Amino acid sequence: MHTYPPPPVTFVRGEGSYLWDDQGRRYLDFLSGLAVTSLGHAHPAVADAIAEQARTLLHVSNLYGSLPGHDVAATLDRLLGGGGRVFFCNSGAEANECAIKLARKWGGYGRFGVISAYGSFHGRTLATLHATGQPAKHEAFQPMPEGFRHVAWDDLDALEAAIDPSVAAVLLEPLQGEGGVNPATPEYFQGVRAICDDRGLLFMVDEVQTGLGRTGDWFGFQGLGVRPDVVTMAKALGNGMPIGACWATAEVADAFRPGDHATTYGGQPLATAAARATLAVMEAEDVPARARVAGERLQRALAGLPGVQSVRGVGLLLAMELDGKRAKRVAALALDAGLVVNPVTESALRLAPSLLVTPDELNEGVAILASVLERAHLEEVG
Ligand SMILES: *Cc1c(COP(=O)(O)O)cnc(C)c1O
Repeated sequence: MHTYPPPPVTFVRGEGSYLWDDQGRRYLDFLSGLAVTSLGHAHPAVADAIAEQARTLLHVSNLYGSLPGHDVAATLDRLLGGGGRVFFCNSGAEANECAIKLARKWGGYGRFGVISAYGSFHGRTLATLHATGQPAKHEAFQPMPEGFRHVAWDDLDALEAAIDPSVAAVLLEPLQGEGGVNPATPEYFQGVRAICDDRGLLFMVDEVQTGLGRTGDWFGFQGLGVRPDVVTMAKALGNGMPIGACWATAEVADAFRPGDHATTYGGQPLATAAARATLAVMEAEDVPARARVAGERLQRALAGLPGVQSVRGVGLLLAMELDGKRAKRVAALALDAGLVVNPVTESALRLAPSLLVTPDELNEGVAILASVLERAHLEEVG
């Protein structure tokens, strides 16, 4: 179906930070399939785990036990600070659906509302689409499911004013990814935490894009000085294998009883074997520390380029704000020059390289961007 524009290139192979297209051309990948392949393409440890599990056991359903998911849940719980439970699913939207249903079950009859922020992105299913604070995306699909309202980002008074007895939870990203790479401040997140405690609401954090090292912490909220009640994740968890997860404190998770929520594929051995290998490499390589160091280096280099107004973001989830609305054109020129980046707004490019990116690869990407910005400028002045 025509849900995407025609693709500009077709990729057939990847290795580390590089991709090859069907013409044999090589590209440096600074998008990582939308912050998914955080360990780079075709990571041998993940590839081996997938191949081994494929020869052993792919799927049994959640009516029976299977092994790798237990390890993944235990690791995630430890990285999140402990004391929680995990539900596995297959995508970010599904992880948020789980969080929304959990909030409704936890809230009880008549207490179902979820407050999210304008500019947010939480998924494309009907409920997560309504949670997504971008009204233009709702229009063609009205009516939206009930129980969602939006408030201005980074505005505690607006949040306070939106709360009434029907509200059960607040759902926020620690950095709005699709919304243009807008990081939250510690003051905002700590203020939200205080309001949720005061009004008896769940604080649910959508870490689908930010989670698992990308921001320089294991999770974005950890750099903001709060502890949420519910955390959702997906993208980087399987390094490309589709898998999502919703974590909640045991007290909140206990609102779900057998039969309340389910999934055929979620938590199956193939996806969780990939996630187990991904997490093992992430811990061995200390990817949060690597993201912090590489992110600072990249941010400094980008800020010095002509035609770049400012650089924002945390760790290796960055956006460069360009002079004028030329992000689409610059991204197309970059692709022609062998660099994959994403126009996240009309005037900003998003960069999300592999967390294992090397200093040489960063230099190569910055050099391509420098020459491409020059070309875009020459085009415009004629
Ligand atoms: C990508 C994304 C989602 C949706 O994930 P899917 O796997 O595409 O359903 C949800 N929330 C955030 C913050 C995302 O970046």
